[in-house]
Amino acid sequence: MSGACFALKFLDTILHGQSSWMARDGAHALSVDDPATGALIASLAITTKAQICAKIDQVSIAQALWAEMTASARQNILRKWHDLAQKHEGELAALLTLEQGKPLSEAKAEISSSLKNILWSAGLCERKNGYEEKSHINGALNEVHYEPVGVVAAITPWNFPSAMITRKVAPALAAGCGVILKPAEDTPLSAIALAKLAYDAGIPRGLFALVITNREGAAEFSDVVFSDKRVRMVSFTGSTAIGKTLIASSAQNVTKLSLELGGNAPFIICADADLDKAVEGAFASKFRNAGQTCICANRIYVHADIYDVFMERFVARVRAAKIGNGFEDGVEIGPLINERAQQNVQNFIKKLDSEGAQKIYAAQPGLTWSFLPPMVYACAEDCSATQQEIFGPIACVYKFDSYEDVVQKANETDYGLAAYIYAKDSKLSTGLAKALQFGMVGINETRISDASIPFGGVKQSGIGREGGYDSLKNFMVTKFICKA
Ligand code: NAD
Repeated sequence: MSGACFALKFLDTILHGQSSWMARDGAHALSVDDPATGALIASLAITTKAQICAKIDQVSIAQALWAEMTASARQNILRKWHDLAQKHEGELAALLTLEQGKPLSEAKAEISSSLKNILWSAGLCERKNGYEEKSHINGALNEVHYEPVGVVAAITPWNFPSAMITRKVAPALAAGCGVILKPAEDTPLSAIALAKLAYDAGIPRGLFALVITNREGAAEFSDVVFSDKRVRMVSFTGSTAIGKTLIASSAQNVTKLSLELGGNAPFIICADADLDKAVEGAFASKFRNAGQTCICANRIYVHADIYDVFMERFVARVRAAKIGNGFEDGVEIGPLINERAQQNVQNFIKKLDSEGAQKIYAAQPGLTWSFLPPMVYACAEDCSATQQEIFGPIACVYKFDSYEDVVQKANETDYGLAAYIYAKDSKLSTGLAKALQFGMVGINETRISDASIPFGGVKQSGIGREGGYDSLKNFMVTKFICKA
């Protein structure tokens, strides 16, 4: 059975008996397409405004009951969710590739990190929620409690349709919150599958509600959640532009925000770097998910002493990469998500060309609009194009002479999510890492996302952290009680 058929069969079982997800008429439907072929995968019913309000009612009621349960009862249910998702690991990965386009190997890695997000959150359920200590008042006792924030609205992007959901929903539920989730319009099927498995595991339907919308409906969803005082927190992953609109909307009811926004990662290759590792790291970081991740290398800075040899080897590595449908064996670069994404990257290429960046390599054009050929550009110091997040398979390489200058250049951005350094001298790499104004720095390593680490950025890359030991605290509020 082909990968696509395998995924469709799974989707069929997920949607079986869940007819409310399916569109009844064309007028209020969301079409989900395979980005690799353009084929229609599913036509889903769009959640109406009245239904969104009803779902908030349900989440609000269910959350109060859920928060009363013992932490170990919540933990058991989350573990069941993990186990069920693990049982369907292969199917979830295939569905992810079908609706998102990334190579199946990357989809499998994403599902495995999604499973860890659930298990990690379950594991933190029973960590001591608060502490007591001698009071500042004689004879009294001070208590600090951490309580669930309440109803959380989660908005997730299409580039990690499973990991971004589990990284929000699992810790929120573990903390005792209820969640109303709006997945990205391009990739709602992974969300439906995860929700169905959660319900099968015993997570109440009312507690974890799903809203399906198109792009216009996304704005309506945020209007509804920010105007409802019962929604106490919005957790968002997406672009900085939309993040800023959410910050403005949150003023209405002073809604708590957690924001994971865009990035503009510098990838610094020092003169003493292990070139094999640097070439492989730059390739993996730049071309993962066809360049559509917020921690992708956006500006590759190479020391002048090794620039020529790096460029030669890097271009050879890009040339060797297989481009195509994510289900094909050996494919490393899949399609872009949609025509809007394609247009954005084409505009970026025009800007690079107009600024005189030198095209060093471009693969053969793809068969359809969705397969943008990977390219490598040599950029001059004053090239402004890369102030923008590329979000496509275009590598921009800069030459540098001084470490002081490269740190200054790397920091000259409004973003501050991820940065990378390749160097053998650990004193040099540690010094650079400390000087870089980014939330996360990988030294000789590009895999910097995991349930166990605090993921997030500084500056306009976001507010707050997801994952790590404090992942449940993100969804809690602190209460102080003084007992005299
Ligand atoms: P996007 O901001 O356009 O969309 C993200 C989500 O927001 C989607 O669910 C979309 O439907 C929703 N949305 C759109 N308009 C909205 C509105 N007015 N109100 C509320 N929600 C709205 O981003 P995208 O194109 O889906 O994803 C790419 C961007 O996300 C990139 O900039 C990338 O860097 C960023 N991103 C960041 C992280 C991170 O962890 N920091 C992870 C993945 C993606």
